[in-house]
Amino acid sequence: MELTGRSFIGRQRGAGESAAFYGINPLTGARLEPGYAEAGDDEIERAVQLAAQAAAPFAAASGKQRAALLRRIAANLDAVAEPLVERAHAESGLSLQRLQGETARITGQLRLFASILEDGSWVRARIDTALPDRKPMPRPALRSLLRPLGPVVVFGASNFPLAFSTAGGDTAAALAAGCPVIFKAHPAHPATGEIVAVAIQQAIAAEQLPEGVFSLLYGLGNKLGLTLVLHPAVQAVAFTGSQRGGRALMDLAASRPQPIPCFTEMSSVNPLFVLPELLAADPEGFAQNLFASFTLGSGQFCTKPGLIFWTKMTGAEAFVAHLKKLVANAAPLPLLTPGIAQAYTQLTGERAKQAARVAEAKNSGEAPFCHAAPHLYSTTLADFQARPALAEEIFGPTTLLIECPDLASYVRAAGALDGQLTATLFGTEADLAAQRELIDVLATKAGRVIANAFPTGVEVSHAMVHGGPYPAASDARFTSVGTRAIDRFVRPVCYQSLPDALLPAELQDANPLGILRLVDGKETRAAIG
Ligand code: NAP
Repeated sequence: MELTGRSFIGRQRGAGESAAFYGINPLTGARLEPGYAEAGDDEIERAVQLAAQAAAPFAAASGKQRAALLRRIAANLDAVAEPLVERAHAESGLSLQRLQGETARITGQLRLFASILEDGSWVRARIDTALPDRKPMPRPALRSLLRPLGPVVVFGASNFPLAFSTAGGDTAAALAAGCPVIFKAHPAHPATGEIVAVAIQQAIAAEQLPEGVFSLLYGLGNKLGLTLVLHPAVQAVAFTGSQRGGRALMDLAASRPQPIPCFTEMSSVNPLFVLPELLAADPEGFAQNLFASFTLGSGQFCTKPGLIFWTKMTGAEAFVAHLKKLVANAAPLPLLTPGIAQAYTQLTGERAKQAARVAEAKNSGEAPFCHAAPHLYSTTLADFQARPALAEEIFGPTTLLIECPDLASYVRAAGALDGQLTATLFGTEADLAAQRELIDVLATKAGRVIANAFPTGVEVSHAMVHGGPYPAASDARFTSVGTRAIDRFVRPVCYQSLPDALLPAELQDANPLGILRLVDGKETRAAIG
């Protein structure tokens, strides 16, 4: 496929004359052709207007039509999987195997959303039939369901050029809900975004849906994103990225004359609590697995375990000693962008002033371009609680050991934490049974509480929750991964006393779509009357 370096304004391509930026191969420092032109003000305006025009017809499209769109996007992505993965590898330095996994994840996610659209029950239709004879007042017929919000602006993150980017979870959920998407391309993987956007636009054309259902705009710096979030036709924002960026967009969305929901999935330090019996059984094995988890993807996971709470117990010394050895012997790891590498150097330097650096990869002095040495830090619970900066994310291959005075102090430690995407306990069944209070506290802090598995993997499924109390996410009531992610882009609408023929099919007496509905408080697929 020929890459053009131009934005997608619906089906049209941007006219930007000169290249404003290029993808960079973080493994070599090489500049990747083509150059990418920034969308001009008129192009931004046109993309939003197209989305606004597409909103009503796309909302009115049946679940089956939208499912066909998602399935076709998935098929188009399958057809370009090889060049897509190669380009994502060149732009991110992530391994081919990891990116093949991400491709399967996004196509699987699109098909999972298609399946719930085909069933149709996701609109949560509720029908309270009229009670004309009720005393003292009759009850009118009330029927409600979930309807799309309208155009959504989506921002993806650098560390998942596929799974949390152009056709990632936010785009899939918004399109499934019936919302047009304007995607703000990530500057770290512009061509990966272009290949995915072609697959999406071709699917929209093939399904004869309005071109404004999807646009992708390129821009450097914050101006493009800010313009989109402030545009009056935009009705919601979905963001995956840093706390600083997410918070700026939340504040901006709230400052509009019409404030709009801004769903930001941000960073997390993902506390992990080590319990005694498990550590006693295999301290070195546990150190090995922990090392593999916090250096996975060079530590560039929002779910990286970044705080390890432990206390003196049988096996603890062997665990810490082995972890130090693993870090000291590690090779430098590739980071995604020179900016992330620079931030890692700065933040690990600052951390070394606040916590003891107990191990650092040997070859750190000679790290190649955009690579960083794994670092291990250690502190006590008292010092951790006295220095709030120690609870902040360092994006990259590092973690912090926090030595607690005893097991009882885990509950106090957990209670003082900020909101998290995940919280993990490692222990035997007996260990876990003794930690009910800790589990309850962690459930108030995190979107996902995990036993005996590292938090880095995030399954795409119906029950998954990837979110959590602020600052992990802007709104703890929602998830950005899994089929519940669709709830962010819909609102309930109630129809009172409307004639049957004017109601959406999902609410009509005959239940022509055969969906599961709550009729007078009882779940049923049966028709009324
Ligand atoms: P980022 O620097 O926040 O960038 C994300 C996107 O937002 C980019 O397109 C960026 O565009 C834009 N942006 C950032 N700040 C902005 C602002 N103030 N105004 C307007 N636009 C803004 O994040 P990243 O480096 O790509 O990703 C790494 C971070 O994402 C890590 O902190 C990681 O933990 C987090 N993350 C979270 C999740 C999750 O699900 N919670 C998943 C993956 C990653 P410009 O650069 O052009 O401004």
